[in-house]
Amino acid sequence: MHVRPLQLIPQWRGDETLYSWAARMHRIVGYSVKDTGRLLFGASHAYKEWATSTRFAHFGIATNKHLGNTKDILLQRTVLAAYYPFLRYEQREEFDRCAESNVRTPWLTRFGMRASTLDKVEMRWCQCCIQNDLADGAMPRWRLPHQLPGAWWCVEHDLYLNKLNPDIAEWVIPLITNPTSQPLLNNECIQALRNLSALAGSLVGKERVNLVGIKRAVLSRLRDMGLVTSIKPVSSEILQQWFALTRLAEAVKQVEPSIQSVIEKQWIYETLLKRRASHPLLWMMLWVATFEGFSTQDVVRGFHEPDAMLIWQDDGQGQLWIEKEFQADEKVQAIVKNAKTIKSAAQQLKVSVATIRRYMKEAQCSPQHVRGTNLRQNRKVAALAEIEALINETHDVTKTDVHLRCKGSVSWLKRWEPELLASTLAKIPEIRDRQCVLPLFNA
Ligand SMILES: [Zn+2]
Repeated sequence: MHVRPLQLIPQWRGDETLYSWAARMHRIVGYSVKDTGRLLFGASHAYKEWATSTRFAHFGIATNKHLGNTKDILLQRTVLAAYYPFLRYEQREEFDRCAESNVRTPWLTRFGMRASTLDKVEMRWCQCCIQNDLADGAMPRWRLPHQLPGAWWCVEHDLYLNKLNPDIAEWVIPLITNPTSQPLLNNECIQALRNLSALAGSLVGKERVNLVGIKRAVLSRLRDMGLVTSIKPVSSEILQQWFALTRLAEAVKQVEPSIQSVIEKQWIYETLLKRRASHPLLWMMLWVATFEGFSTQDVVRGFHEPDAMLIWQDDGQGQLWIEKEFQADEKVQAIVKNAKTIKSAAQQLKVSVATIRRYMKEAQCSPQHVRGTNLRQNRKVAALAEIEALINETHDVTKTDVHLRCKGSVSWLKRWEPELLASTLAKIPEIRDRQCVLPLFNA
């Protein structure tokens, strides 16, 4: 194979895709559509490969490896970014081997479950993002986050993405067109789409997701909603009925009716309880629907740290998840009871200290550290009393005086109750301190 390295190799622009880079290059070199394909990928029909390329060996030599190795390009510049984290260990090894050796690989068919209706290859763009490109004096680019499965929404501009199924023999770039009619969606549906798109985007650059943890967190939440119980076997129909009533289902019906046939089948049951691998889009839809009403940040973070999600309550306020009979929640209870301090319980459960306190209050547990909490409360009252006494009893007292004369109390409050300290010290008029300090500066 004789490949001539390119004279000019532009760097990646922002989050552009491999196809986007090639379409830009096509305009730079000014070749015919087929010749650009031959030049960059060694194939005249390369313009048809919108999602990824099968010809990285040629591309690597042509670009002199200036744009990264094959695996980096696949995971940072193509839709494979959304598939790789879901692959089984052996599949990931095979993927790495193919990328390393640069053998011609039909990436999407082999690793992307292309057979599925869910892998519709289309290109998407946001009107506002393109306007930003033009305002920067740049060529409009295809952004990777918009091309991923489930990304039907521009998270940045809160807009429905335009779609293109390129059937023309061209290296297309996104165009400013008359805005496509935006589907009529209520705020909750928009939130669901936003969460799904943000979740898809968060997969870029991720090596793997914890599917076991994700499954466990979803099942726990479904149990919390009463859809799954420990007494009866899981009912596929009930799960389907639940999903059909979610905002996400309502939104997907409008923005991507083509996948309706897939989500009408028993996909939830299969995703959760069958060993067969499910499509990344199904996992993401299940997650977004399960944690409907959560903030985008929590939905995305939870997906990547599903174990932390297990103990967060649905109000998203960081409360520990307490079932009606919280006694059943033995693991959490044991940790809280046996921990020496609230802080260590919080660390073990990966929640905040405030969360543990609330949990203790609701669960009315009387663990070892209650004594510690009482001691602390006493210390707080004593420290405050000392400082307030000084402020009330000494005329013209300054903050410096308080720091000097109540050293222990100030440093204790500074560490444990800094806001309380600040509000207490705020009772001293500012002017006193300034009067005290200014002469020093003047001197
Ligand atoms: Zn946008």
